[in-house]
Amino acid sequence: MHGLVIKNTGFWYTVLTDEKQTVESKVKGNFRLKGIRSTNPVAVGDGVDIVINDEGQGLITAIDDRKNYIIRRATNLSKQSSIIACNLDQVLLVVTVAHPETSTTFIDRFLASAEAYSVPVTLIFNKTDLLNEDERHYQQMAVDLYRTIGYTCHEVSAHTGEGTEPLKVSLKDKVTLLSGNSGVGKSTLLNLLVPGAEARVADISDAHDTGMHTTTFSEMVPVEGGGWLVDTPGIKGFGTFDMEPEEIGSYFKEIFKFSKDCRFSNCTHTHEPGCAVRKAVEEHYIAESRYNSYLSMLQDKDENKYREAY
Ligand code: GDP
Ligand code: ZN
Repeated sequence: MHGLVIKNTGFWYTVLTDEKQTVESKVKGNFRLKGIRSTNPVAVGDGVDIVINDEGQGLITAIDDRKNYIIRRATNLSKQSSIIACNLDQVLLVVTVAHPETSTTFIDRFLASAEAYSVPVTLIFNKTDLLNEDERHYQQMAVDLYRTIGYTCHEVSAHTGEGTEPLKVSLKDKVTLLSGNSGVGKSTLLNLLVPGAEARVADISDAHDTGMHTTTFSEMVPVEGGGWLVDTPGIKGFGTFDMEPEEIGSYFKEIFKFSKDCRFSNCTHTHEPGCAVRKAVEEHYIAESRYNSYLSMLQDKDENKYREAY
């Protein structure tokens, strides 16, 4: 029987079968995935084959190929990671220009990580109702910048509902993850987009207090009219630790474009002669904020630091 993993408690996987039956399932012993060092072989969003036993419990025997997955490191020190979710159609990154201010470094790191994992990101600029004139102007520049690079941007207020209609439409029949720093309005937005979701989220938080596996707990909440919102309590971003320094530039779309004209194919765009990227920054074809974010990620690599997108 085939189904979709819609909930992962760290012990059980809830599988929604193609026949719309939910089956609490476990993973077949010593099940390992090639190429991924992970504490959990299966995650929400996975398509799986299950065999149901006499007690009605499922045994996951196979996993469909994934189009993408996102991970986080199990602990800061370990090289083990856990898969948060798979087969995401989009991540909505909620950001705010003010109250609180989301830094461009955070945004750019997040976007680069998402590129690395082949996850499309849409930027949601929330709390537009709170902005003064300067902040509105700043937001307009940011929106223009990210649109020029190729990212879809929405300017919304979760408070008044302004601008949220196109967002609702974009959820239809998609698997979506809502992400962003705390305080930017994720819960408020979630409640607006999926009425009733907030209560479920509270249930999940309660479950945490009973000692559940915080690093792996996640759930997909159905969206009315089709689609799923992935809820991963306590997870703000996702890990970038398996990114090679020379790869980083390729995850900044516009840097990648210009890097093809650098004199050296392994140019790090920091000091090399004939660097087309630095020239593009000087001539304002590449925003300084983006270049600085790139440098800060490169620097982390030098220091062998692990970050979760910030
Ligand atoms: P989360 O931590 O990202 O889940 O953020 P919350 O949804 O808890 O929102 C943090 C605070 O910002 C709450 O007091 C919300 O009421 C408020 N808030 C969220 N969105 C908006 C908005 O669009 N406009 C205004 N004025 N306040 C908002
Ligand atoms: Zn270069």
